Amino acid sequence: MTTPRIPIAGPWITQREIDYVADATANAWYGSANLYHDKFERAFAGHLGVRHAMALPSCTSGLHLALAARGIGPGDEVIVPDITWIASCAPITYVGATPVFADVDPDTWCISASSIEKCLTPRTRALIPVDLYGHPADYDSINELARAHDLFVIEDAAEAVGATYRGRPAGSLAHVGVFSFHGSKTLTTGEGGLLATDDSALYERAAFLRDHGRKPGDVFFFNHEVAFKYKMSSMQAALGLAQLERLDELMTRKRQIFAWYRERLSGISGLSLNYQAPGTTNAYWMITVLWEPGLLPDKRKTMELLAERGIDTRPFFHPLSAIPAYAGSVEAQRAVRENTVAHSLTNRALNLPSALTLEEAHVDRVCDALLAVLRS
Ligand SMILES: *Cc1c(COP(=O)(O)O)cnc(C)c1O
Repeated sequence: MTTPRIPIAGPWITQREIDYVADATANAWYGSANLYHDKFERAFAGHLGVRHAMALPSCTSGLHLALAARGIGPGDEVIVPDITWIASCAPITYVGATPVFADVDPDTWCISASSIEKCLTPRTRALIPVDLYGHPADYDSINELARAHDLFVIEDAAEAVGATYRGRPAGSLAHVGVFSFHGSKTLTTGEGGLLATDDSALYERAAFLRDHGRKPGDVFFFNHEVAFKYKMSSMQAALGLAQLERLDELMTRKRQIFAWYRERLSGISGLSLNYQAPGTTNAYWMITVLWEPGLLPDKRKTMELLAERGIDTRPFFHPLSAIPAYAGSVEAQRAVRENTVAHSLTNRALNLPSALTLEEAHVDRVCDALLAVLRS
């Protein structure tokens, strides 16, 4: 008999989600086509305390729209963390601008005002801080720096729905916030995303760009510019609404899972788990273990050893400056030399199973396997 593999990520779906999606499938057509989008966007804006929320097919499209709506393009530089998923950065390339890879803070694993400062040039136009694995970056100091240099700040909160920073929700901490509702994320619509902002002009421009350059309410199908098509379906919006109504429950569950891991691993010398800065609540999208150099093999080997024991893990993100997609660029070569924290963290950390349906017995198995590898 083989024990079932413990999955790395996955949602928590209840009858509420199934009922809303069934209703959207049956009824959200004709005059009601936007019923669930309206409800979901209004509820999400309410959760964030911002004026506008726009449901989208992905977080990638949200980042693309935010950059395009701000008019960022060739000749402009945009600062991103060296450590993140490529989706935080690829839209910079889509608009023809140049990504500049900033080092991350050793505790929060996010970019900071001081790491951003080292990357500023006269061509810097925007910053995309990422709330890595659910921990918000330090926005008070980042926004202060941005104001001083007239920079546009996009918060990539793809992993941080439910997190807070000084009492405010992640995704509401910069000019624009973007979210992902990919199947691996805490709040899911299968695939999906959202852009949130208080800036009405930016929102209007993004609304125009996401619908093939049509003016709002256009019934004459008259396109003023060549633009994009970025919309979510009603069925996805219905799923998102049901998940958002359960956000407190999802967060309680994530914190419980983290607490189970903490009980088992926090006493092990040389291992550490996700940090939580004072004044911040971590949303713990991915529970992540970091080890002192030499305590375990590198992340690839440790992943293999855990996989042999039925445990799915994911590698801590590779620095963008080290992956083939960006490695050849002048910017990547500079980052490899200068981003010592990113390049030191990356090979000695893994994401542990963090699915919302995980039970305490699963966490026991994961931790037993990790400790067995550590002692072998
Ligand atoms: C998941 C993720 C994205 C991309 O989300 P999609 O919805 O797949 O486009 C962007 N940034 C970060 C940090 C992510 O984790």
